[in-house]
Amino acid sequence: MKYDIIVIGGGHSGLEALFSSHNMGFSTLLITLSQEKIGLMSCNPAIGGLGKGQLVREIDALGGLMARNIDETGIQFRMLNTKKGPAVQSLRAQADRELYGLWWQKKIEEAGIPVEEGEVLKILVKNKIAIGVETSDKRKFFAKKIVLTTGTFLSGLLHIGDESWEGGRIQEGACYFLSENLKSLGFSLGRLKTGTSPRIHKETVNYSKTKEQFGDKNPKPFSFSTKKIEKPNIPCFITYTNLKTHKIIKDNLHLSPLYQGKIKGIGVRYCPSIEDKIFKFPDKDKHQVFIEPDGINSDIMYLNGVATSLPRPVQSEILSSIPGLENAKIIEYGYAVEYDFVYPTQLKQTLETKEISGLYLAGQINGTTGYEEAASQGLIAGINAGLSIKGKPQIVLGRDRAYIGVLIDDLTTKGTGEAYRMFTSRCEYRLLLRQDNADIRLMEEGYRIGLIGYEQYQRLLEKKRLIDCKLQIANCKFKDEKFLKEVEEQIEINKKYDGYIKRSLKEIEELKKRENLLIPENFDYQAIKSLSKETKEKLTKIKPISIGQAGRIPGIRPSDISIILLYLNLKREKGKRGRFYLFLFFILLASWVFLLA
Ligand code: FAD
Repeated sequence: MKYDIIVIGGGHSGLEALFSSHNMGFSTLLITLSQEKIGLMSCNPAIGGLGKGQLVREIDALGGLMARNIDETGIQFRMLNTKKGPAVQSLRAQADRELYGLWWQKKIEEAGIPVEEGEVLKILVKNKIAIGVETSDKRKFFAKKIVLTTGTFLSGLLHIGDESWEGGRIQEGACYFLSENLKSLGFSLGRLKTGTSPRIHKETVNYSKTKEQFGDKNPKPFSFSTKKIEKPNIPCFITYTNLKTHKIIKDNLHLSPLYQGKIKGIGVRYCPSIEDKIFKFPDKDKHQVFIEPDGINSDIMYLNGVATSLPRPVQSEILSSIPGLENAKIIEYGYAVEYDFVYPTQLKQTLETKEISGLYLAGQINGTTGYEEAASQGLIAGINAGLSIKGKPQIVLGRDRAYIGVLIDDLTTKGTGEAYRMFTSRCEYRLLLRQDNADIRLMEEGYRIGLIGYEQYQRLLEKKRLIDCKLQIANCKFKDEKFLKEVEEQIEINKKYDGYIKRSLKEIEELKKRENLLIPENFDYQAIKSLSKETKEKLTKIKPISIGQAGRIPGIRPSDISIILLYLNLKREKGKRGRFYLFLFFILLASWVFLLA
């Protein structure tokens, strides 16, 4: 059987790709290493956070599912940065790790989506077009489009102290052949590293030495379709490392695979290991550690803040020096993973690869870190694979429309040499792209694509009408209680930040002018003599779709842009002149035929 779309990988990225494709009406197959690991949270059990909460809301507004899952399986919800402005506020929730994965598995079963367990070794390609995949047991599956979302599994290598073994995650194998296959198809791959913290038994924590932290009393949901969060508010606990902890780490740094030089991959700057923190901030006398429940009925506590790959006995010694964790029983030791990723400048802004048509990449394989970053890309890759089958224009969300747009533009234009994590500071128009207005910005697009239902869309239109009425007519009255809070929130923000919002809108107008100046896909930069060799190489590699994107490529100067503009104008003039002469020729020919007749 030939499918419309095959998604490889049942992680956070693959699942959004899978459901966007399925819900758009395409026959879709999921191939993944293990069915029971579908939707597994590899690291800490939490969704959202600074810059990431915005992504989750945007995924929801476009018709993705991450927000709905966490609303149902979350065990503590907190709006972060409430003392700061709305531009930087983000929702974060503690998840029940087991329930979160099971939610996806149940959804797949209910939807009747076929799943094949297996390791994909090869992308089958004909004339530079992806046509299917081959698994390690020699089965072949064919499809019109392929979405590849392999996370940390490509040539994955796990480390604890001086032990290293092949694997993409603890107790799972790695995929070495697919890395080689991607290289043979012409992709260039880099190497990254990330790590996770020890998990401990909840009964072995002395909670009296820690500070309890609950979530919000009246939590806001992530999804615009969730009416109310009706979940228990389970606390986390806070403790700190101290000078004794730091001495243990310093004394054992030579045993860390990272500092021994065994790990070649570049680490995550923004989620550093505890070894990294001690090394990079030697003057700090303590670091925060969050003791996070792994689930309502789970015996496990996750130690957020002490990711480490030091040898097991050293990990035990570290914990015994931290107040509250003196007698903690470790259930799973922290470890580091090194893996291959594909340099994302080899992708179009639609997430289709430039090298192989019909092949889309999404998630950690593109050099990002985090469930939310992965899910955002998966959703866009799934949507675009579908739109391309329908022969419709694929979506590219600009930097002025969505955090997802910023994420994909950064990856495909600037590339990344280290794991990319989303932050509010990456987004130029963050006062416009808030988590509270993701529906207003994006739900119409979700409806147009077919992932947002009619009823939800009508609700959005009604809400927008009320906001416009309130903003434009001084005595506009509405009694619709269901919208009262949401509408008032928008009015308040719009009035309070009116000046900033207007300024941002003006800047966006300028941005749009540059984004609308499109560069043809086959534009020959090598033919422009006045561009430097390096500039030509960069532009030929990235193939920017617009003058706006060209201007954001690192190292491209305003003078280069002026030269490209000049050439584009010349080409256009030539084109116009050519068309004029052709027209003239036909007129003359017609008159001649007429005279002869
Ligand atoms: P994954 O969730 O990894 O899913 C990949 C899927 O692909 C899996 O289902 C796997 O079975 C499947 N697969 C892989 N290869 C094949 C193949 N050849 N054939 C078939 N199926 C295949 N994020 C943070 O934000 N902060 C952190 O501190 C952090 N630490 C981490 C620590 C560790 C040890 C790990 C493993 C991950 C960590 N992450 C962290 C990253 C986070 O888990 C990922 O960003 C996220 O899971 C990526 O989602 P994904 O869908 O791209 O890949």
